[in-house]
Amino acid sequence: MRSRGPKTVILPSAEEANALIKKMRGAVESNENYRTKSLRIHGPVCAKCGRSFDAAHLDQLTVHHKDGNHNNNPPDGSNWENLCIHCHDDEHSRDILGDYLSKTK
Ligand SMILES: [Zn+2]
Ligand SMILES: [Zn+2]
Repeated sequence: MRSRGPKTVILPSAEEANALIKKMRGAVESNENYRTKSLRIHGPVCAKCGRSFDAAHLDQLTVHHKDGNHNNNPPDGSNWENLCIHCHDDEHSRDILGDYLSKTK
């Protein structure tokens, strides 16, 4: 699938490229930041089952937003809860079930 000869590639201008990089970096950083902060504030422990995680298994510990709003990231960690993937799953399925039950009653 390789074509010979000069290829015309339209490169974004330096400013455009910089803005794009900044945007991408910002998104990644803020995502990383709240997780890192939450782990530091609440510790590498699941708030529900109490399981603690070492560095090798830390990717199984996720940050749950108590109000469900991922953009609500107060620096004091009041909207975060560290939950292992199982408890996190459970937390969200119960939300849906609770919602369902309250609507059908
Ligand atoms: Zn758990
Ligand atoms: Zn969650």
